[in-house]
Amino acid sequence: MEDKTVTPTESDTSRHFLRQWIEEDLAAGKNDGTVVTRFPPEPNGWIHIGHAKAVCVDFGMAQLFKGRCHLRMDDTNPSKETDEFVEVLKKDINWLGFQWDAFYYACDMFDQMWDIAETLIRKGQAYVCELSQEEWKTYRGVPTRPGTPSPYRDRPVEESLDLFRRMRAGEFAEGTHCLRAKIDMASPNIHFRDPVIYRIVHQPHYHTGDAWHCYPMYDFAHPIEDALEGVTHSMCTLEFEVHRPLYDWVIDRLDEQGRLVVRNGKKIRPQQREFARLNLSYTVMSKRLLRQLVEENRVDGWDDPRMPTVAGMRRRGYTPAAIRNFCERIGISKYESQTDLALLEYCVRDDLNRIAQRRMAVLNPIKLIIDNLPEGTMLEAELPNNPEDPEAGKRVVPFGRELWIDRDDFMEVPAKKFFRITVGNEVRLRGACLFTCTHLVKNDAGEVVEIHGTYDPTSKGGNPSDGRKIKGTIHWVCAQNALAAEVRLYDRLFTMENPMDCPSGSFLDALNPDSVKVIQAYMEPSLKNAVPGEFYQFERVGYFTPDVHASQPGAPIFNRTVTLKDSFKK
Ligand code: ATP
Ligand code: MG
Repeated sequence: MEDKTVTPTESDTSRHFLRQWIEEDLAAGKNDGTVVTRFPPEPNGWIHIGHAKAVCVDFGMAQLFKGRCHLRMDDTNPSKETDEFVEVLKKDINWLGFQWDAFYYACDMFDQMWDIAETLIRKGQAYVCELSQEEWKTYRGVPTRPGTPSPYRDRPVEESLDLFRRMRAGEFAEGTHCLRAKIDMASPNIHFRDPVIYRIVHQPHYHTGDAWHCYPMYDFAHPIEDALEGVTHSMCTLEFEVHRPLYDWVIDRLDEQGRLVVRNGKKIRPQQREFARLNLSYTVMSKRLLRQLVEENRVDGWDDPRMPTVAGMRRRGYTPAAIRNFCERIGISKYESQTDLALLEYCVRDDLNRIAQRRMAVLNPIKLIIDNLPEGTMLEAELPNNPEDPEAGKRVVPFGRELWIDRDDFMEVPAKKFFRITVGNEVRLRGACLFTCTHLVKNDAGEVVEIHGTYDPTSKGGNPSDGRKIKGTIHWVCAQNALAAEVRLYDRLFTMENPMDCPSGSFLDALNPDSVKVIQAYMEPSLKNAVPGEFYQFERVGYFTPDVHASQPGAPIFNRTVTLKDSFKK
């Protein structure tokens, strides 16, 4: 047999418990030595960074062990599922860098699930119960004391079968009937006390339409989906840990019914393990809440650059490699915690620093005039496209008598240790020349509107001919041929680390009113041809990318991906 165990490399720090679990199974020869995982989103919203973590785990483990990973639409709940969400999910998973080995809709298994449920009824392992949810709370009881059996628990098989079929046909109102697995009313695990496995829902399903009026519950459907697909290792988030005995119970029933997939003579018995979900500061991460932000127009759609959705992060200029690296760094554990958004931003900077083209842009402009450069004279500065990557080459940036510089690079009354522009001080205009400010021009209100000075003609490229020390280097844009473009400066969507703890009781009150600021900026003329999907570092400012919706050919509008300043403490 082919050896599927993996020898860890030195750089490999990810020998977490899920990996050990799979390694042990392989060593024990379980499941015919195969690893099959799955990522099972419900197509009821756009996937977010938390899902990205699960994607990295599910696809990552399959890759590591040369196995297979299925993409499955967990569409057993008709209310909010759509094909549009299915398409977006696929696109986002591909963009993250993963390709599934098989694609499934759970709803295609409805017939088989039904058949399995009827078999349970026939074997006395399930019954139709008519207690209301409210009544059930009393019957179910508390973990420390046995519950009370439902009065319907021992109803005849034929009666349950008849009612079950009439539930499907739509004869009963929602909440009046359900199918319960007959397990153990004395179990300390509440999920084991005759859990509901089918409930009535009178809503059309995006694929099966009106064919069904009752739908399987997650705890019943999920193990069946895993088993029918031949999944070996089913990884999910921690809240399902207490459901695991029920998962195993269903798998045992499938085994009894002879429904487990057999590979090379070996039964494939799926197992479930749980890991801590990702919680990220300054955002919310439930599709329900994200949907609310979209529906109430608090954001510009699911892919608003401030959203924690994969599509939002793509539109903002995050890279798949940065997101994967982030997921790798946060690791996999059994303990819930909150991850600092700053770590994600650190990973984004780390990747963009490697790949982003450098350009100059002035976000808060003030005019600078080189008095000893005659009007109409054009000079050139040559600058590297990416100092981190010599292969990225160089570019030529024109400059003339009038430039835009950033207001923050100038002080009329300089603070201590301010080495940038102030009257009498010499600075380097990045890649161009040395410049000394001689005087200022003010408007009637007394505000500085022009900075005047002279350049040193022997300082081509910004280097003094005599080796004198120049402490300040500033970026600039030539006024005559600058591109004027809109720039959207994004900040955190929420002002609180955990918006759900907002004292008012509503996470909406924790929304950051300044999460986007729209400004006009001047930039190097070459940026006119920037297109979405490209990454730029505006030198000394931050990382930017053309917005995919707002940009027009020849007229890009830029999103700020992240500032240059790193607040992450390693
Ligand atoms: P939401 O509450 O955002 O709707 P969900 O768990 O209901 O999340 P699903 O579409 O059912 O959404 O999730 C698909 C998979 O992604 C599940 O296996 C789930 O455990 C995992 N997942 C969802 N949120 C996170 C998270 N924050 N961290 C890690 N995994 C997650
Ligand atoms: Mg879910």
